[in-house]
Amino acid sequence: MFHFCPSCASLGIRFEEGTRFRCPDCGFVYYHNIAAATGCIIDAGEGILFLVRAKEPALGKLDLPGGFVSLGEGAVEGLRRECREEIRWDPGPDCSFFASFPNTYLYQGILYNTCDLFFTCSAPGLREEDLHRDPQEIGGLRFVKPGQILMEELAFDSTRRVMQAFLGRRHPSG
Ligand SMILES: [Zn+2]
Repeated sequence: MFHFCPSCASLGIRFEEGTRFRCPDCGFVYYHNIAAATGCIIDAGEGILFLVRAKEPALGKLDLPGGFVSLGEGAVEGLRRECREEIRWDPGPDCSFFASFPNTYLYQGILYNTCDLFFTCSAPGLREEDLHRDPQEIGGLRFVKPGQILMEELAFDSTRRVMQAFLGRRHPSG
């Protein structure tokens, strides 16, 4: 990400231990910390709501509503804002924490490491007509019955892991 030290312009800057840039010449240190992100498993009764991604990474794959947590936000607050932005629907304050998995997100050549926090929310009767997607971000909406969720259609490693955990809990016998 940095080819020159942003402080002294040295070429000696190195990325260490997957966490920080350090310049041996002037002592400059920059921590490239993981980012927090959220996702919501919205159970609409007739299926789980997935969003078809309209851009890279994972263009055309199925993602859960959610996104990066912004500066100054709590996780649920960030999740609710992302849902309002993406589908103009608010899951409300009562979504329940379900599980967390790490993820990587390659955007314009930079690999971001995230801690994805997944929540569940029950929205019986929620239909596509109740939602308004942002076409810049979302290519389509899909309600998928739990038994018809295909892991290879899911956008990210963390999405696959959380859906496996969710389906395993719903159907403990497999
Ligand atoms: Zn330096």
